[in-house]
Amino acid sequence: MHEHGGIEKLRYEDAEEPGLPAPNEVIVKLKTAALNHIDIWNRLGVTGVVIPMPHILGADGAGVIVEVGEKVDNVKKGDAVCLYPATGCGRCEFCSTGRDFMCIHVRVLGERLEGTYAEYVKLPAENCFPIPAMMSFEEAAAFPLVFVTLWRMLITNARLKPGESLLIIGIGGGVASAALQVAKQIGAHVVVTSGSDEKLELAKNWGADHGVNHRKKDFAKEVRTLTENRGVDVVLDCVAGEVWQKSLSALAKGGRLVTCGATAGGLPDTDLRAIFSNQLKIFGSTLGSREEFRQLLSFMTLSRIRPIIDSVFPLKEGAAAQRRMEEGKQFGKIVLQVSD
Ligand SMILES: [Zn+2]
Repeated sequence: MHEHGGIEKLRYEDAEEPGLPAPNEVIVKLKTAALNHIDIWNRLGVTGVVIPMPHILGADGAGVIVEVGEKVDNVKKGDAVCLYPATGCGRCEFCSTGRDFMCIHVRVLGERLEGTYAEYVKLPAENCFPIPAMMSFEEAAAFPLVFVTLWRMLITNARLKPGESLLIIGIGGGVASAALQVAKQIGAHVVVTSGSDEKLELAKNWGADHGVNHRKKDFAKEVRTLTENRGVDVVLDCVAGEVWQKSLSALAKGGRLVTCGATAGGLPDTDLRAIFSNQLKIFGSTLGSREEFRQLLSFMTLSRIRPIIDSVFPLKEGAAAQRRMEEGKQFGKIVLQVSD
């Protein structure tokens, strides 16, 4: 894109190939990329992050290393890799403790770094990881951003345990569908909400224990009925807006709410009395650390979980792919096929 705006601002055109990698960098020839909501926010220019123009979007990708800087020793030419999307300044208190996603100078693919809707991408070698065994390039592009975000929310922050209950608001998006997969794998009881009966049916096929159509029923009341008035242990709400207060009221005493977005509005009404009197905890996060990414890779390999792929578009139809996401039609990840 050459400027911010609607889908019509996306162009399929030749851009310059990335130049020689710095000593700690590599160049990856991408086979696949995957879409995230952040791509749309970045296209619209509403994140507050200043993006150099012209710009290539895309935080997720997978491919093969074709160039390595002289100091790179963790990967080599010809390696098939998936990408951890964030890199920091390398010096601040966050970077020096492995949390460079919290660095104030953090650069993320498709944001301050050129992204993955392209044939080539240049990035630090330490952001390249071997693709988990048996995963296709489509799957390897589809999981990093949403799964590492989800991992931090559900495992590091909320500490969801086997036998606990989780309510996922708005099943269908990448983070929500990843949450369903991980939660079922670790043995949690999962309730999902959606305005679409079709998506609720799909969620049940992927293991959801209950589905509530929030257009037809009050999900907070429904959760109370399902749990004999107890409430759930954890709520994942990246919708907020009108939904937020209901999410809080669906929690059991001592419950945890995790959020990484506010698609329906970032300034919801909040009853603070419900938070303190019920001993609730609220965790906000975006992305996750390299260490969390490593834990996730190991989990993906051992559990054999594969990200749910909604659809695959050729790179040149990236605009149509973003339209599908903007209209909220997807269940799982939308992938771009870059090269064979
Ligand atoms: Zn830093």
